[in-house]
Amino acid sequence: MSMHIPFDNSYARLAPSFYSKQVPDRVMSPSLLAFNTDLAQLLDISPGDTDEMAQAFGGNVVPDGAEPLAQLYAGHQFGNYNPQLGDGRALLLGETIGRDGVRRDIQLKGSGRTAYSRAGDGRAWLGPVLREYVVSEAMHALGVPTTRALAAVSTGETVWRETGLPGAVLTRVASSHLRVGTFQIFARRGAITNLKALTDYAIQRHYPKVDGPMGLLRAVRDAQAALIAKWMAVGFIHGVMNTDNSSISGETIDYGPCAFMDVYHPQTLFSSIDRQGRYAYGNQPDIAVWNLAQLATALIQQLDDPQTGVEEATEIVHAMPDMMQEYWLQNFRAKLGMTTARDGDLNLISDLLALMAQEQSDFTNTFRSLGAGEPRDQFIDRSKFDAWEANWKVRLQDEPDPQSLMRRTNPAFIPRNHRIEQMITEAVDGDFTLFNRLNQVLSRPYEDQPDQADLRHPPKPDEVVKATFC
Ligand code: AMP
Ligand code: MG
Ligand code: MG
Repeated sequence: MSMHIPFDNSYARLAPSFYSKQVPDRVMSPSLLAFNTDLAQLLDISPGDTDEMAQAFGGNVVPDGAEPLAQLYAGHQFGNYNPQLGDGRALLLGETIGRDGVRRDIQLKGSGRTAYSRAGDGRAWLGPVLREYVVSEAMHALGVPTTRALAAVSTGETVWRETGLPGAVLTRVASSHLRVGTFQIFARRGAITNLKALTDYAIQRHYPKVDGPMGLLRAVRDAQAALIAKWMAVGFIHGVMNTDNSSISGETIDYGPCAFMDVYHPQTLFSSIDRQGRYAYGNQPDIAVWNLAQLATALIQQLDDPQTGVEEATEIVHAMPDMMQEYWLQNFRAKLGMTTARDGDLNLISDLLALMAQEQSDFTNTFRSLGAGEPRDQFIDRSKFDAWEANWKVRLQDEPDPQSLMRRTNPAFIPRNHRIEQMITEAVDGDFTLFNRLNQVLSRPYEDQPDQADLRHPPKPDEVVKATFC
Protein backbone atom coordinates (compact mmCIF):
# COMPACT_ATOMS: atom_id res chain seq x y z
CA MET A 1 0.00 0.00 0.00
CA SER A 2 1.39 3.39 -0.78
CA MET A 3 1.37 6.32 1.58
CA HIS A 4 -1.37 8.89 1.26
CA ILE A 5 -1.62 12.25 3.04
CA PRO A 6 -4.90 14.09 2.37
CA PHE A 7 -3.39 17.57 2.06
CA ASP A 8 -5.67 20.57 2.22
CA ASN A 9 -3.39 23.59 2.20
CA SER A 10 -4.43 27.04 3.31
CA TYR A 11 -1.20 28.86 4.20
CA ALA A 12 0.05 28.48 0.64
CA ARG A 13 -3.05 30.44 -0.47
CA LEU A 14 -1.96 33.52 1.50
CA ALA A 15 0.03 36.22 -0.32
CA PRO A 16 3.56 35.21 -1.42
CA SER A 17 5.02 37.69 1.08
CA PHE A 18 4.11 35.27 3.90
CA TYR A 19 6.56 32.56 2.85
CA SER A 20 9.12 31.29 0.44
CA LYS A 21 8.30 28.16 -1.55
CA GLN A 22 10.94 25.50 -2.11
CA VAL A 23 11.45 21.74 -1.96
CA PRO A 24 13.44 19.99 0.80
CA ASP A 25 17.09 19.13 0.12
CA ARG A 26 17.79 15.51 -0.72
CA VAL A 27 19.57 13.43 1.91
CA MET A 28 22.02 10.57 1.36
CA SER A 29 20.31 7.56 2.90
CA PRO A 30 17.11 8.21 4.80
CA SER A 31 16.07 5.60 7.31
CA LEU A 32 12.85 5.65 9.35
CA LEU A 33 13.60 5.72 13.09
CA ALA A 34 10.09 6.28 14.38
CA PHE A 35 6.59 6.71 13.04
CA ASN A 36 3.64 7.73 15.21
CA THR A 37 0.84 5.43 14.07
CA ASP A 38 -1.80 6.86 16.42
CA LEU A 39 -1.13 10.41 15.29
CA ALA A 40 -1.12 9.31 11.63
CA GLN A 41 -4.58 7.86 12.17
CA LEU A 42 -5.83 11.10 13.72
CA LEU A 43 -4.45 12.99 10.71
CA ASP A 44 -6.11 10.52 8.33
CA ILE A 45 -2.77 9.53 6.82
CA SER A 46 -2.47 6.06 5.29
CA PRO A 47 1.06 4.87 6.03
CA GLY A 48 3.15 3.33 3.29
CA ASP A 49 6.05 0.93 3.52
CA THR A 50 9.03 1.90 5.63
CA ASP A 51 11.23 2.99 2.75
CA GLU A 52 8.53 5.14 1.19
CA MET A 53 7.98 6.92 4.50
CA ALA A 54 11.72 7.37 5.01
CA GLN A 55 11.92 9.01 1.55
CA ALA A 56 8.96 11.32 2.28
CA PHE A 57 9.82 12.27 5.87
CA GLY A 58 13.53 12.55 5.08
CA GLY A 59 12.70 15.08 2.34
CA ASN A 60 13.73 13.10 -0.76
CA VAL A 61 10.23 12.72 -2.17
CA VAL A 62 7.61 15.45 -1.94
CA PRO A 63 4.31 13.66 -1.27
CA ASP A 64 1.40 14.30 -3.63
CA GLY A 65 -0.53 17.39 -2.62
CA ALA A 66 2.27 18.93 -0.56
CA GLU A 67 3.31 22.53 -1.35
CA PRO A 68 6.49 22.94 0.69
CA LEU A 69 7.27 26.42 1.97
CA ALA A 70 9.33 28.18 4.62
CA GLN A 71 7.29 30.58 6.74
CA LEU A 72 8.41 34.14 7.36
CA TYR A 73 8.45 35.60 10.86
CA ALA A 74 10.49 37.79 13.19
CA GLY A 75 10.71 37.88 16.96
CA HIS A 76 12.23 39.04 20.19
CA GLN A 77 15.12 36.75 21.11
CA PHE A 78 16.04 37.12 24.79
CA GLY A 79 14.30 40.49 24.77
CA ASN A 80 15.98 41.90 21.66
CA TYR A 81 14.02 42.33 18.46
CA ASN A 82 15.35 40.41 15.48
CA PRO A 83 13.61 41.81 12.39
CA GLN A 84 14.06 38.73 10.25
CA LEU A 85 13.93 35.11 11.34
CA GLY A 86 11.67 32.65 9.54
CA ASP A 87 11.95 28.89 9.09
CA GLY A 88 15.69 28.52 8.73
CA ARG A 89 15.67 24.76 8.79
CA ALA A 90 12.05 23.80 8.48
CA LEU A 91 9.54 23.44 5.66
CA LEU A 92 5.79 23.28 5.94
CA LEU A 93 4.70 20.44 3.66
CA GLY A 94 1.06 21.42 3.98
CA GLU A 95 -1.98 20.84 6.14
CA THR A 96 -4.47 18.05 6.70
CA ILE A 97 -7.88 18.11 8.29
CA GLY A 98 -7.88 15.34 10.85
CA ARG A 99 -10.60 12.86 11.75
CA ASP A 100 -11.48 15.25 14.58
CA GLY A 101 -12.08 18.06 12.07
CA VAL A 102 -8.98 19.98 13.17
CA ARG A 103 -6.64 21.47 10.57
CA ARG A 104 -2.98 20.78 11.35
CA ASP A 105 0.39 21.62 9.82
CA ILE A 106 2.81 18.90 8.78
CA GLN A 107 6.32 20.30 8.87
CA LEU A 108 9.78 18.88 8.25
CA LYS A 109 12.42 20.19 10.65
CA GLY A 110 16.05 19.79 9.59
CA SER A 111 15.26 19.62 5.85
CA GLY A 112 18.01 21.92 4.60
CA ARG A 113 18.70 25.59 4.06
CA THR A 114 15.90 28.02 3.19
CA ALA A 115 15.61 31.67 2.24
CA TYR A 116 15.69 32.42 6.00
CA SER A 117 18.64 30.29 7.10
CA ARG A 118 21.09 33.18 7.62
CA ALA A 119 24.38 31.52 8.70
CA GLY A 120 22.75 28.21 9.64
CA ASP A 121 23.13 24.90 7.82
CA GLY A 122 19.40 24.15 7.79
CA ARG A 123 20.04 20.80 9.41
CA ALA A 124 19.30 19.05 12.69
CA TRP A 125 21.26 16.30 14.40
CA LEU A 126 19.84 13.17 15.93
CA GLY A 127 19.92 14.33 19.58
CA PRO A 128 17.51 17.27 19.41
CA VAL A 129 15.27 15.38 16.97
CA LEU A 130 14.84 12.46 19.37
CA ARG A 131 14.51 14.79 22.37
CA GLU A 132 11.70 16.69 20.66
CA TYR A 133 10.05 13.43 19.62
CA VAL A 134 10.03 12.00 23.15
CA VAL A 135 9.34 15.20 25.10
CA SER A 136 6.58 16.54 22.84
CA GLU A 137 4.75 13.20 22.86
CA ALA A 138 5.20 12.98 26.63
CA MET A 139 3.72 16.46 27.02
CA HIS A 140 0.73 15.37 24.95
CA ALA A 141 0.20 12.32 27.16
CA LEU A 142 0.52 14.54 30.25
CA GLY A 143 -2.37 16.62 28.92
CA VAL A 144 -0.37 19.72 27.97
CA PRO A 145 -1.23 21.37 24.61
CA THR A 146 1.73 20.81 22.32
CA THR A 147 3.01 20.25 18.84
CA ARG A 148 3.42 16.54 18.15
CA ALA A 149 5.91 14.24 16.49
CA LEU A 150 4.81 12.22 13.48
CA ALA A 151 8.14 10.78 12.32
CA ALA A 152 11.88 10.80 12.83
CA VAL A 153 14.28 9.89 10.02
CA SER A 154 18.06 9.61 10.09
CA THR A 155 19.70 11.04 7.00
CA GLY A 156 22.93 9.06 6.79
CA GLU A 157 24.73 12.41 6.63
CA THR A 158 27.01 14.14 9.09
CA VAL A 159 25.92 17.40 10.67
CA TRP A 160 28.66 19.61 12.05
CA ARG A 161 28.17 21.19 15.43
CA GLU A 162 31.22 21.23 17.71
CA THR A 163 31.94 17.85 16.22
CA GLY A 164 30.48 15.61 13.49
CA LEU A 165 27.10 14.17 14.48
CA PRO A 166 24.50 11.99 12.76
CA GLY A 167 21.88 14.04 10.89
CA ALA A 168 18.13 13.59 11.26
CA VAL A 169 14.81 15.13 10.26
CA LEU A 170 11.77 15.45 12.51
CA THR A 171 8.24 15.63 11.15
CA ARG A 172 6.36 17.98 13.43
CA VAL A 173 2.62 18.43 13.60
CA ALA A 174 1.07 21.61 14.97
CA SER A 175 -2.41 23.08 14.95
CA SER A 176 -0.52 25.87 13.18
CA HIS A 177 2.91 27.47 13.23
CA LEU A 178 1.55 31.00 13.70
CA ARG A 179 3.70 32.75 16.27
CA VAL A 180 3.69 36.10 18.02
CA GLY A 181 6.64 36.82 15.74
CA THR A 182 4.54 36.20 12.62
CA PHE A 183 2.42 39.21 13.61
CA GLN A 184 5.42 41.26 14.67
CA ILE A 185 7.14 41.13 11.30
CA PHE A 186 4.23 42.65 9.38
CA ALA A 187 3.38 45.18 12.09
CA ARG A 188 6.96 46.43 12.34
CA ARG A 189 7.24 46.68 8.57
CA GLY A 190 4.00 48.65 8.41
CA ALA A 191 2.55 45.97 6.12
CA ILE A 192 -0.99 46.54 7.34
CA THR A 193 -2.79 44.65 4.57
CA ASN A 194 -0.77 41.55 5.43
CA LEU A 195 -1.27 42.10 9.15
CA LYS A 196 -5.04 42.23 8.64
CA ALA A 197 -5.00 39.14 6.43
CA LEU A 198 -2.94 37.29 9.04
CA THR A 199 -5.31 38.34 11.82
CA ASP A 200 -8.32 37.09 9.84
CA TYR A 201 -6.51 33.86 9.05
CA ALA A 202 -5.59 33.24 12.71
CA ILE A 203 -9.13 33.95 13.89
CA GLN A 204 -10.67 31.67 11.29
CA ARG A 205 -8.23 28.89 12.01
CA HIS A 206 -8.07 29.00 15.81
CA TYR A 207 -10.77 31.13 17.34
CA PRO A 208 -13.64 31.39 14.82
CA LYS A 209 -16.02 32.81 17.43
CA VAL A 210 -13.98 35.88 18.34
CA ASP A 211 -14.33 39.35 16.94
CA GLY A 212 -11.45 41.38 15.51
CA PRO A 213 -7.84 41.90 16.63
CA MET A 214 -8.71 42.54 20.28
CA GLY A 215 -10.87 39.41 20.35
CA LEU A 216 -7.90 37.49 19.04
CA LEU A 217 -5.63 39.03 21.67
CA ARG A 218 -8.03 37.98 24.41
CA ALA A 219 -8.24 34.42 23.05
CA VAL A 220 -4.47 34.06 22.78
CA ARG A 221 -4.11 35.40 26.32
CA ASP A 222 -6.54 32.78 27.65
CA ALA A 223 -4.83 29.95 25.77
CA GLN A 224 -1.31 31.03 26.79
CA ALA A 225 -2.33 31.55 30.42
CA ALA A 226 -3.79 28.04 30.58
CA LEU A 227 -0.70 26.63 28.86
CA ILE A 228 1.88 28.21 31.15
CA ALA A 229 -0.08 27.14 34.24
CA LYS A 230 0.11 23.57 32.91
CA TRP A 231 3.87 23.82 32.36
CA MET A 232 4.24 24.95 35.96
CA ALA A 233 2.13 22.05 37.19
CA VAL A 234 4.31 19.41 35.53
CA GLY A 235 7.64 21.14 36.21
CA PHE A 236 8.38 21.89 32.56
CA ILE A 237 10.92 24.54 31.59
CA HIS A 238 10.67 25.59 27.96
CA GLY A 239 14.07 27.22 27.85
CA VAL A 240 13.62 29.62 24.89
CA MET A 241 10.39 31.57 25.32
CA ASN A 242 11.25 34.02 22.56
CA THR A 243 8.27 35.60 20.81
CA ASP A 244 9.02 33.51 17.72
CA ASN A 245 8.57 30.42 19.89
CA SER A 246 5.28 31.60 21.35
CA SER A 247 2.36 30.03 19.54
CA ILE A 248 -0.93 31.76 18.72
CA SER A 249 -2.77 28.45 19.18
CA GLY A 250 -1.54 28.10 22.77
CA GLU A 251 0.46 24.95 22.08
CA THR A 252 3.96 24.34 23.41
CA ILE A 253 6.21 24.85 20.41
CA ASP A 254 9.92 24.54 19.62
CA TYR A 255 11.55 22.03 21.93
CA GLY A 256 15.14 23.19 22.17
CA PRO A 257 17.05 23.21 25.43
CA CYS A 258 13.84 22.37 27.32
CA ALA A 259 13.82 20.18 30.41
CA PHE A 260 11.74 18.88 33.28
CA MET A 261 12.81 19.82 36.76
CA ASP A 262 14.03 17.11 39.13
CA VAL A 263 14.73 18.94 42.41
CA TYR A 264 12.21 21.73 42.96
CA HIS A 265 13.54 25.25 42.86
CA PRO A 266 11.83 28.24 41.23
CA GLN A 267 15.04 29.49 39.66
CA THR A 268 15.80 26.18 37.93
CA LEU A 269 17.37 26.69 34.54
CA PHE A 270 19.03 24.31 32.11
CA SER A 271 19.49 26.14 28.84
CA SER A 272 23.15 26.61 27.98
CA ILE A 273 22.34 29.77 25.99
CA ASP A 274 20.39 31.58 28.76
CA ARG A 275 23.12 33.26 30.79
CA GLN A 276 20.81 35.68 32.63
CA GLY A 277 18.24 33.09 33.64
CA ARG A 278 15.53 34.98 31.76
CA TYR A 279 13.63 31.77 31.03
CA ALA A 280 14.04 30.02 34.41
CA TYR A 281 11.09 27.94 35.68
CA GLY A 282 9.65 30.60 37.96
CA ASN A 283 9.97 33.40 35.38
CA GLN A 284 7.79 31.70 32.78
CA PRO A 285 4.50 33.38 33.80
CA ASP A 286 6.06 36.88 33.64
CA ILE A 287 7.63 36.14 30.29
CA ALA A 288 4.30 34.95 28.89
CA VAL A 289 2.81 38.33 29.83
CA TRP A 290 5.75 40.13 28.22
CA ASN A 291 5.24 38.08 25.04
CA LEU A 292 1.52 38.86 25.00
CA ALA A 293 2.35 42.56 25.29
CA GLN A 294 4.44 42.18 22.12
CA LEU A 295 1.47 40.58 20.37
CA ALA A 296 -0.75 43.42 21.56
CA THR A 297 1.72 45.98 20.21
CA ALA A 298 1.65 44.27 16.83
CA LEU A 299 -2.12 43.79 16.65
CA ILE A 300 -3.07 47.39 17.44
CA GLN A 301 -1.16 48.68 14.39
CA GLN A 302 -4.12 47.67 12.24
CA LEU A 303 -6.83 49.49 14.21
CA ASP A 304 -8.53 52.59 12.79
CA ASP A 305 -8.38 54.20 16.22
CA PRO A 306 -5.07 53.10 17.74
CA GLN A 307 -5.57 55.20 20.90
CA THR A 308 -8.71 53.35 22.02
CA GLY A 309 -6.93 50.20 20.91
CA VAL A 310 -4.02 50.87 23.25
CA GLU A 311 -6.38 51.21 26.18
CA GLU A 312 -8.27 48.03 25.42
CA ALA A 313 -5.09 46.07 24.69
CA THR A 314 -3.51 47.28 27.92
CA GLU A 315 -6.51 46.08 29.87
CA ILE A 316 -6.37 42.68 28.19
CA VAL A 317 -2.66 42.23 28.88
CA HIS A 318 -2.92 43.47 32.46
CA ALA A 319 -5.56 40.88 33.24
CA MET A 320 -3.22 38.04 32.30
CA PRO A 321 -1.23 37.65 35.56
CA ASP A 322 -4.37 37.16 37.67
CA MET A 323 -5.79 34.80 35.12
CA MET A 324 -2.61 32.72 35.09
CA GLN A 325 -2.54 32.71 38.87
CA GLU A 326 -6.11 31.39 38.89
CA TYR A 327 -5.24 28.56 36.48
CA TRP A 328 -2.13 27.86 38.51
CA LEU A 329 -4.19 27.61 41.70
CA GLN A 330 -6.68 25.28 40.01
CA ASN A 331 -3.87 23.00 38.88
CA PHE A 332 -2.03 22.93 42.18
CA ARG A 333 -5.25 22.48 44.14
CA ALA A 334 -5.91 19.39 42.04
CA LYS A 335 -2.34 18.22 42.62
CA LEU A 336 -3.12 18.31 46.35
CA GLY A 337 -6.43 16.49 45.88
CA MET A 338 -8.63 19.54 46.32
CA THR A 339 -11.66 20.23 44.13
CA THR A 340 -13.14 23.15 46.03
CA ALA A 341 -11.61 26.61 46.47
CA ARG A 342 -10.96 27.92 49.97
CA ASP A 343 -9.19 30.88 51.47
CA GLY A 344 -5.80 29.71 52.57
CA ASP A 345 -5.25 27.36 49.61
CA LEU A 346 -2.59 29.61 48.16
CA ASN A 347 -0.72 29.57 51.47
CA LEU A 348 -1.03 25.84 51.82
CA ILE A 349 0.43 25.29 48.34
CA SER A 350 3.13 27.94 48.74
CA ASP A 351 4.20 26.51 52.10
CA LEU A 352 4.68 23.08 50.57
CA LEU A 353 6.67 24.49 47.64
CA ALA A 354 8.85 26.57 49.94
CA LEU A 355 9.55 23.51 52.05
CA MET A 356 10.35 21.47 48.93
CA ALA A 357 12.80 24.13 47.76
CA GLN A 358 14.48 24.18 51.16
CA GLU A 359 14.63 20.40 51.36
CA GLN A 360 15.60 19.90 47.71
CA SER A 361 12.69 17.55 47.17
CA ASP A 362 12.08 15.96 43.81
CA PHE A 363 9.14 17.84 42.26
CA THR A 364 7.47 14.92 40.47
CA ASN A 365 8.03 12.25 43.10
CA THR A 366 6.94 14.47 45.99
CA PHE A 367 3.58 15.27 44.40
CA ARG A 368 3.06 11.71 43.21
CA SER A 369 3.78 10.36 46.67
CA LEU A 370 1.17 12.64 48.26
CA GLY A 371 -1.53 10.57 46.59
CA ALA A 372 0.26 7.25 46.38
CA GLY A 373 3.31 6.68 48.53
CA GLU A 374 5.47 7.97 51.34
CA PRO A 375 5.79 11.73 50.93
CA ARG A 376 7.85 12.01 54.14
CA ASP A 377 10.71 10.26 52.38
CA GLN A 378 11.06 13.27 50.05
CA PHE A 379 12.08 15.50 52.97
CA ILE A 380 15.23 15.45 55.06
CA ASP A 381 13.58 17.32 57.94
CA ARG A 382 10.52 15.12 58.26
CA SER A 383 9.04 17.00 61.19
CA LYS A 384 8.62 20.06 58.97
CA PHE A 385 6.72 17.99 56.45
CA ASP A 386 4.61 16.40 59.21
CA ALA A 387 3.51 19.85 60.38
CA TRP A 388 2.48 20.83 56.85
CA GLU A 389 0.77 17.49 56.31
CA ALA A 390 -1.36 17.92 59.43
CA ASN A 391 -2.83 21.16 58.01
CA TRP A 392 -3.36 19.57 54.64
CA LYS A 393 -5.18 16.57 56.12
CA VAL A 394 -7.60 18.93 57.86
CA ARG A 395 -8.16 20.75 54.57
CA LEU A 396 -8.92 17.44 52.80
CA GLN A 397 -11.67 16.41 55.19
CA ASP A 398 -14.56 17.50 52.95
CA GLU A 399 -12.95 16.41 49.69
CA PRO A 400 -14.74 13.48 48.04
CA ASP A 401 -11.87 11.48 46.55
CA PRO A 402 -8.51 13.23 46.81
CA GLN A 403 -6.50 10.08 46.18
CA SER A 404 -7.84 9.41 42.72
CA LEU A 405 -7.71 13.10 41.76
CA MET A 406 -4.05 13.22 42.77
CA ARG A 407 -3.27 10.13 40.72
CA ARG A 408 -4.76 11.82 37.68
CA THR A 409 -2.91 15.11 38.20
CA ASN A 410 0.51 14.06 39.52
CA PRO A 411 2.39 11.99 36.95
CA ALA A 412 4.51 9.04 38.00
CA PHE A 413 6.66 9.45 34.87
CA ILE A 414 8.19 12.50 33.22
CA PRO A 415 10.95 12.55 30.61
CA ARG A 416 13.78 13.04 33.05
CA ASN A 417 16.79 14.85 31.71
CA HIS A 418 19.37 12.23 32.54
CA ARG A 419 17.29 9.58 30.77
CA ILE A 420 16.90 11.79 27.72
CA GLU A 421 20.66 12.34 27.60
CA GLN A 422 21.29 8.62 28.07
CA MET A 423 18.78 7.86 25.31
CA ILE A 424 20.58 10.26 22.94
CA THR A 425 24.02 8.81 23.72
CA GLU A 426 22.77 5.29 23.08
CA ALA A 427 20.94 6.30 19.89
CA VAL A 428 24.10 7.89 18.50
CA ASP A 429 25.68 4.45 19.04
CA GLY A 430 22.82 2.90 17.09
CA ASP A 431 20.84 1.56 20.05
CA PHE A 432 17.22 2.80 20.09
CA THR A 433 16.01 0.55 22.94
CA LEU A 434 15.69 3.38 25.46
CA PHE A 435 14.14 5.73 22.88
CA ASN A 436 11.40 3.18 22.21
CA ARG A 437 10.98 2.35 25.88
CA LEU A 438 10.62 6.03 26.85
CA ASN A 439 7.97 6.55 24.18
CA GLN A 440 6.09 3.52 25.46
CA VAL A 441 6.21 4.32 29.18
CA LEU A 442 5.61 8.06 28.77
CA SER A 443 2.45 7.45 26.78
CA ARG A 444 0.82 6.46 30.11
CA PRO A 445 2.47 8.84 32.59
CA TYR A 446 -0.25 8.63 35.24
CA GLU A 447 -0.05 4.84 35.58
CA ASP A 448 2.30 3.23 38.07
CA GLN A 449 3.89 0.65 35.72
CA PRO A 450 5.88 -0.99 38.56
CA ASP A 451 8.22 -2.84 36.17
CA GLN A 452 9.44 0.55 34.85
CA ALA A 453 10.20 2.00 38.30
CA ASP A 454 13.83 2.79 37.40
CA LEU A 455 12.54 5.54 35.08
CA ARG A 456 11.00 7.29 38.09
CA HIS A 457 14.27 7.64 39.95
CA PRO A 458 15.84 11.09 40.10
CA PRO A 459 19.40 11.24 38.78
CA LYS A 460 22.22 10.04 40.99
CA PRO A 461 24.76 12.80 41.72
CA ASP A 462 26.96 11.74 38.80
CA GLU A 463 23.94 11.53 36.45
CA VAL A 464 22.65 15.07 37.01
CA VAL A 465 22.37 17.04 33.78
CA LYS A 466 23.30 20.66 34.47
CA ALA A 467 22.82 22.12 31.01
CA THR A 468 20.88 21.25 27.90
CA PHE A 469 21.97 22.18 24.38
CA CYS A 470 20.01 22.42 21.18
P1 AMP B 1 15.12 28.76 17.74
O1 AMP B 1 15.97 29.34 18.81
O2 AMP B 1 15.21 27.26 17.65
O3 AMP B 1 13.70 29.22 17.84
O4 AMP B 1 15.69 29.27 16.35
C1 AMP B 1 15.76 30.64 16.03
C2 AMP B 1 15.90 30.83 14.55
O5 AMP B 1 17.08 30.22 14.06
C3 AMP B 1 14.75 30.25 13.74
O6 AMP B 1 14.47 31.16 12.72
C4 AMP B 1 15.33 28.98 13.19
O7 AMP B 1 14.72 28.59 11.99
C5 AMP B 1 16.79 29.35 12.99
N1 AMP B 1 17.68 28.17 13.05
C6 AMP B 1 17.95 27.41 14.11
N2 AMP B 1 18.83 26.43 13.80
C7 AMP B 1 19.15 26.59 12.50
C8 AMP B 1 20.00 25.91 11.57
N3 AMP B 1 20.73 24.85 11.94
N4 AMP B 1 20.03 26.37 10.30
C9 AMP B 1 19.31 27.44 9.92
N5 AMP B 1 18.49 28.12 10.72
C10 AMP B 1 18.40 27.71 12.01
MG1 MG C 1 12.03 28.64 16.99
MG1 MG D 1 14.44 25.59 17.94
